[in-house]
Amino acid sequence: MAQPDTLQPANQPALVGVMGWPVAHSRSPTMHNAAFQALGLPWQYLRLPVRPEHVAEAVRGLRGLGFAGANVTVPHKQTVMAALDEVTLEARAIGAVNTIVNRAGHLVGYNTDALGFLRALREGGFEPRDCRAVVLGAGGASRAILFALLAARARVTLVNRTLARAQALATEFGPLFRAPIPTLTFADLPALQTALDDTDLLVNATSVGMHPHEAASPLPSAIHLPATLTVYDLVYTPLETRLLAATRAAGGNAIDGLGMLIHQGAVAFTLWTGQPAPLSVMRAALTNG
Ligand code: NAP
Repeated sequence: MAQPDTLQPANQPALVGVMGWPVAHSRSPTMHNAAFQALGLPWQYLRLPVRPEHVAEAVRGLRGLGFAGANVTVPHKQTVMAALDEVTLEARAIGAVNTIVNRAGHLVGYNTDALGFLRALREGGFEPRDCRAVVLGAGGASRAILFALLAARARVTLVNRTLARAQALATEFGPLFRAPIPTLTFADLPALQTALDDTDLLVNATSVGMHPHEAASPLPSAIHLPATLTVYDLVYTPLETRLLAATRAAGGNAIDGLGMLIHQGAVAFTLWTGQPAPLSVMRAALTNG
């Protein structure tokens, strides 16, 4: 017999939450609780502070307490995988789980960041299929971005402050998608300018420009942004980063990081409830909340 998609029908009371350490800063409760309320679902989304040494027990607790699922955030996105019954191929390749679904006691780990990013990009008017892309950063977020872009058959150049990290990522993802991934550092200005002149999309997956360092841009000041460029900045505090302001000033298409946050949450919402997520409610909750 096929397993039900969720633990119980969406119109019955249910609990979900975000596991992290710390989680006080997380904006997911605001976004998801507004969505549940808007759809009249008697669900609650809780903050679940979990110490790193208690991850496996906390995951077992989700099952024991009958949670419909959970989000997982820093620093548990990797370590949680060992405690789950199943992890999707995509989450395994990305190397991180950000969403758990409790399917009648069987806990499945997903990564919704890659799909959330692609949806945000399309919402911003950019179609990634077969595009040329330059990705800045080789940390956790960059893995989901690389996965999403390579799955859309984009040709990606990877730029990172620490070249060895970019090279390690290129060596891991290149063979997976049978796509060579050139790597460079921000210090190689001519190669960086050439890469940007020859690309359709630039993605900032570094943390540069994030509050309290709003004045910083990941790109050196000598770099010229072509007017034809679409720039996606994962940073969402502030929404208008220095990089996005420079993109607009150059005549390019600038897309802020809020879309990915909303869409990764929306994919999780649908996995738990089986219902489409109210995107405009979620956006309003994040911008006003
Ligand atoms: P991470 O794993 O810590 O990686 C940070 C990356 O930024 C690394 O590539 C690091 O380079 C680079 N970096 C940090 N400081 C730098 C500097 N001063 N100059 C140049 N490069 C620098 O972080 P992450 O989890 O990947 O997150 C990256 C950003 O994405 C954060 O701002 C996060 O909030 C954002 N994010 C947004 C969403 C969304 O939904 N919009 C989702 C996930 C993440 P090195 O390798 O050289 O250290």
